[in-house]
Amino acid sequence: MLAFVDAHLDIAWSSLKHGRDFVAGHPDSALGLPDLLKGGVTLACATIFTGEHEEDETHAEVAERQLAYYEALPGRSGGRVVWPADVMDLGSATPGERVCLVGLLEGCDAVGDVAALSEFHRRGVRVLGLTWNPRNRWAAGCEAEGGLTADGLALVREADRLNMAHDVSHLSRRSVDDLLGAAKGPVIASHVGADAVHAHPRNLTDAHLRAVAQRGGVAALVLYEKFLTGGKATFDDALRHLRHMIEVCGVSGVGIGSDFDGGFGRDQLPAGIRTAADLPKFAAALRKDGLPEADVAKVCGGNLRRVLTSVMM
Ligand SMILES: [Zn+2]
Repeated sequence: MLAFVDAHLDIAWSSLKHGRDFVAGHPDSALGLPDLLKGGVTLACATIFTGEHEEDETHAEVAERQLAYYEALPGRSGGRVVWPADVMDLGSATPGERVCLVGLLEGCDAVGDVAALSEFHRRGVRVLGLTWNPRNRWAAGCEAEGGLTADGLALVREADRLNMAHDVSHLSRRSVDDLLGAAKGPVIASHVGADAVHAHPRNLTDAHLRAVAQRGGVAALVLYEKFLTGGKATFDDALRHLRHMIEVCGVSGVGIGSDFDGGFGRDQLPAGIRTAADLPKFAAALRKDGLPEADVAKVCGGNLRRVLTSVMM
């Protein structure tokens, strides 16, 4: 069984916001633990997402609830979920048996100040994206104009000091430029498509895809149909993005970041992909394209494992 890595799963969000049980699985969820295990997912970034919260809650309160949710998962899952995973956990993870998770801050609105980032790191966060779609104190998101602020640059430096990876997925074009110029550590795009295949502010331009790959990072394909085609999408539509990303980034710079359950359910995935258990279909399609097995393994997990391992030390 091929070991898959998924760069973006909104596990806590799905469970806490939509009441979809993660450990047992849920008929509307694409990311239930049984499906992740069936698909061979051994490692994933699990998000702390506070972008759409109730009015009487703060970002920090939502983040706290989601972190506590992840911290309880190893116990609730009978050890089938490892949080936060380290290099040893990952080395011993067999596909189908356990899923190692590391935290990904999807927007740093819950981070009160630069010094507060180390507490998120201590509790398992290894990847950070400065913004969700709107602008915040740190940077402009993809629905805003502008780039990183002075505070944002300071937060990037602190993330580098802590040996964390940076996620450019939700940033404005200029923020991506600023981040690529400022960051010393690894850069990923945890859930994006190719702008050249379907133009959308959430998809990366070829220049940005290339820049991420050239510095050893990984651009991970999102499976939300809105970003793939703007409407309904087929499995072939998803493959068109993946093939383009491989062409631009090379086989060492591409991965999969499904964004499963990120504000949508199974119905907004490309036809043929219902849950994480369908991820091996990508491996089959790449083999059919003539990609050597070693390269299939890189795209399906090896590349992201390389980057995430480097921030687990
Ligand atoms: Zn997102």
